[in-house]
Amino acid sequence: MLYKKTLHELIDLINKKEITAKDVYNSVLDRIHQKEKDINAYVTVFEDFEENKKDGILKNIPIAVKDNMHIEGKRTTCSSKILENYTAIFDATAVKRLKEASATFIGKTNLDEFAMGSSTETSYFGTTRNPWDITRIPGGSSGGSTAAVASGEAICAIGSDTGGSIRQPAAFCGVVGLKPTYGRVSRYGLVAFASSLDQIGPVTKDVEDAALLMNIICGRDEKDSTSADVEVDDFTSYLNSDIKGLKIGVYDKVFADCSTDVQKSMDNSINIFKSLGCDIKSVDLPNAKYAVSDYYIIAPAEASSNLERYDGVKYGFRADEYENLKEMYIKTRSEGFGDEVKRRIMLGTYVLSSGYYDAYYLKAQKLRGLIKQDFDNAFKDFDVVIAPTTPTEAFMIGEKSDNPLQMYLSDIFTIPANLSAIPAISIPCGLSENGLPLGLQIMANVFREDNIFKVASAFEKEFNLIDKLPLD
Ligand code: GLN
Repeated sequence: MLYKKTLHELIDLINKKEITAKDVYNSVLDRIHQKEKDINAYVTVFEDFEENKKDGILKNIPIAVKDNMHIEGKRTTCSSKILENYTAIFDATAVKRLKEASATFIGKTNLDEFAMGSSTETSYFGTTRNPWDITRIPGGSSGGSTAAVASGEAICAIGSDTGGSIRQPAAFCGVVGLKPTYGRVSRYGLVAFASSLDQIGPVTKDVEDAALLMNIICGRDEKDSTSADVEVDDFTSYLNSDIKGLKIGVYDKVFADCSTDVQKSMDNSINIFKSLGCDIKSVDLPNAKYAVSDYYIIAPAEASSNLERYDGVKYGFRADEYENLKEMYIKTRSEGFGDEVKRRIMLGTYVLSSGYYDAYYLKAQKLRGLIKQDFDNAFKDFDVVIAPTTPTEAFMIGEKSDNPLQMYLSDIFTIPANLSAIPAISIPCGLSENGLPLGLQIMANVFREDNIFKVASAFEKEFNLIDKLPLD
């Protein structure tokens, strides 16, 4: 039953020579064979254990990687037909760092096509199902990573978060998901969606595992000019801190927009922080309510430019029949991209077109500045700001797939952190009436992951869902 364990528990067992890395791999692989037909968490499973000869802290424990990050020699599909047969020719920096820490990999996890979505339903390789209830979505776009960790099909995973894609599915699957400060983790080798928002982060069963992975993947990388030259702390040193007197701002304005389950879980969370001696007050973020509108101008604008490269010439799929170059482009992109990706490209080219640039794109950039200012002000008074991760529990498969706006609104509380570049974690904080997990979001100022780890670790000792994960 090794697949049920956390990364840090397995590292201990291997260090004590009670088990081998191969035992762990086999246990996870058996679990994948048992569950994958129900869950569909993976695009590609690596059936063979590839031993990593490096002597690092990860001890060859297998990690799952979202299929929009490169592992050299393996397929990177972004869950799109257009990259169905694309093999990566280099390692993403995050992957390279995991390899240097002696990780091995077990597979590439499913996502919404090019990470555009909130439910993992737009994947060319089929929907991933929520292991707590397979009639529901796992969230997205890193739904494959979070479903794999929640179901024991992975010990831990890495995902990417542009508008909530680590935190929202972590909340829906009852696991821990962290979006680091923009610039903490190199984006080199992460297939670009919206470059000013994308960040790689860990998906784990508990907070300690998230700290362990952060220690490895963070840090300046010459290959990504936006990666920050900021010292990487030992994030595990912030676990088990006393948080008495810590100042917590509660973004409670939005509670009324949440389901009663979520409201109750927030009330309980606040009581937990009170019992830990925190200083709690409500905080206003007056412009955060515009974050979704703002994001759906900025993210598609960047996406439309980033996705230009899939033209049938350089990468992946090319349409079979065409008369000339222009027709080849048109057919390749029409056949290779799914509907949601096309919608984003159209939105993006529209808001960037001359005549509309000022009215939409430029205005959205100004608004982004105002949202960031709200957080700058909040962090003058508070160490962290808390909010629900999502307004509801995980929804049903198909429930929002015909209604893009409703789908977009499921990220209403996660998007502000991306627009403001600040770090934010989602940790489990309750169960709904239907027995589904709910997430608490903890946000901190840029490069203040230390505060996130202090608060998340203290909270986790009072409430967690580790023993309730669907691992049997
Ligand atoms: N759900 C949001 C979107 O569809 C965020 C996705 C993400 O973070 N990659 O764009």
